[in-house]
Amino acid sequence: MKGSKKKEEKPTPHEDSRIKQALRSVRFTVWIYFAIFIISILIIMWVTFTATFQANYRSRKNADISYASQYIVTGLYDGTLTPKSIYEIGSTRNLCIILQDRYGLTRFSCDVMSENCLIHGASDEQLQNYRRMARESKDGIYTEETGNALKVNTMLYVQAIGGKEPIGYLLINTTLEPFESTVELLRHQMLQISICMLVLGFGISVFLSSLLSTPITRITKSASRLAKGDFNVEFNGNGYTETEQLAETLNYASSEITKIDTMRRDLMANISHDLRTPLTMVKAYAEMIRDLSGDDPVKREEHLEIIIEESDRLSALVNDILDLTKLENGSSGFSPEKVDLHDRIYGIMNRYTLISEKDGYNFYVNVPEGLYIKADPIKLDQVIYNLVNNAVNYSGDSRDIYICAVPKTEHPGKIEVSVTDTGEGIPKEQLGVIFDRYYRAEKHKRDKIGTGLGLSIVKQVLIMHGFQFGVRSEEGVGSTFWFTAEEEKDEGTADQDQRHEDT
Ligand code: ADP
Repeated sequence: MKGSKKKEEKPTPHEDSRIKQALRSVRFTVWIYFAIFIISILIIMWVTFTATFQANYRSRKNADISYASQYIVTGLYDGTLTPKSIYEIGSTRNLCIILQDRYGLTRFSCDVMSENCLIHGASDEQLQNYRRMARESKDGIYTEETGNALKVNTMLYVQAIGGKEPIGYLLINTTLEPFESTVELLRHQMLQISICMLVLGFGISVFLSSLLSTPITRITKSASRLAKGDFNVEFNGNGYTETEQLAETLNYASSEITKIDTMRRDLMANISHDLRTPLTMVKAYAEMIRDLSGDDPVKREEHLEIIIEESDRLSALVNDILDLTKLENGSSGFSPEKVDLHDRIYGIMNRYTLISEKDGYNFYVNVPEGLYIKADPIKLDQVIYNLVNNAVNYSGDSRDIYICAVPKTEHPGKIEVSVTDTGEGIPKEQLGVIFDRYYRAEKHKRDKIGTGLGLSIVKQVLIMHGFQFGVRSEEGVGSTFWFTAEEEKDEGTADQDQRHEDT
């Protein structure tokens, strides 16, 4: 029985982690910091009150005596002093006052402390002593005395009015310890204020912490829906700039994920279609050769040609997928070296002679000699191939394609490489997405050409090189795909320049 009870009390690991999570939550953290803040303020308040009350009281009393003495002496000289005014000043400031003439006779008196008063209960001898002290000091003298009935610490002030030949004496006495009831009252009020502050502070902290954590909790719930594949989820960070920015970012991420998901689905559909078509053709023509045209050399050649073409298309598609995957996961390698653009681009364009002659395409290449950039040659070839292939595919009836590499006059030291076609152009709204993975314009979806990956490969390669790139296009006029690279100085030219400088 005992053992089972113990087991029940121990929190399970799940409960344990929930407790830990709750302790680390924004709600709890805000609450605890606020609570610490309020408690610190209360502690400071109480410590200050206890430590400085006595000193403050003493300096207050000093100021009271100084004010009363000035008031009485001035009033005496002005002739405005009355017993009533002395009583008023004494009773409002809790001061016992005696005003004596030059012979030591009491003329005005105000007694507020009764048995605690040193001057009202003083013997003639003591009063004489006080008058002597007053005469000896120039501006009056303060002393602390405890010789009263209740042994309360008091402050005594004596002043000879009129200096060495006094016309009278002023004696003031007041307690230096506040009445217990006053302190008690203050303490009671402080306690009330402290309780109010605690209750209000804790209330505000609970409200504030829940106000802060609510949008975060809401965003977390939406994020877990997104993680489960609900792409329609809407993030709402209403309330604070930071949570609104977070919600905005997540909404953007979610719309991007949705877009990529749609594109990926499209690609799967395209790829399956693009894979199935050549495979069906390969199979059909292979069967034809086996069953019908095997003995007819002309037909057999024709069918074999189709099989080879379709296999090429298949391998191009598979290569594109592999290339992009490698580029994206960084496993494709990157070996930049100094590349002669003239040699490289003319080398590539030579391979287009056949298509130029057969299908009537006109390639206008303008790449001056002596232009060098730093690039991975194989990857650079891939970029130029993809751009020229697209220009061929989308140049429509015009069939004129321009390949240029020229130093940019407005940016010295930069070279712009561009491929221009005078074909159908790209609608403005598609310009922002054509470099996205799997994107293919609606009207090109049924075409056999392309996989929708060509420009993504171009983009990945150019990003890898750190080149700037883009597209200028107008519908019905044509498109120019471009990238700019830092010009590499030709060593020969550099040497000559050097020599020229030396001479
Ligand atoms: P694809 O294999 O479909 O050509 P790309 O990634 O190379 O894939 O191109 C993506 C899309 O961009 C194309 O489907 C086409 O709609 C558009 N595009 C690319 N190049 C051109 C161009 N020179 N002229 C017009 N549209 C182009």
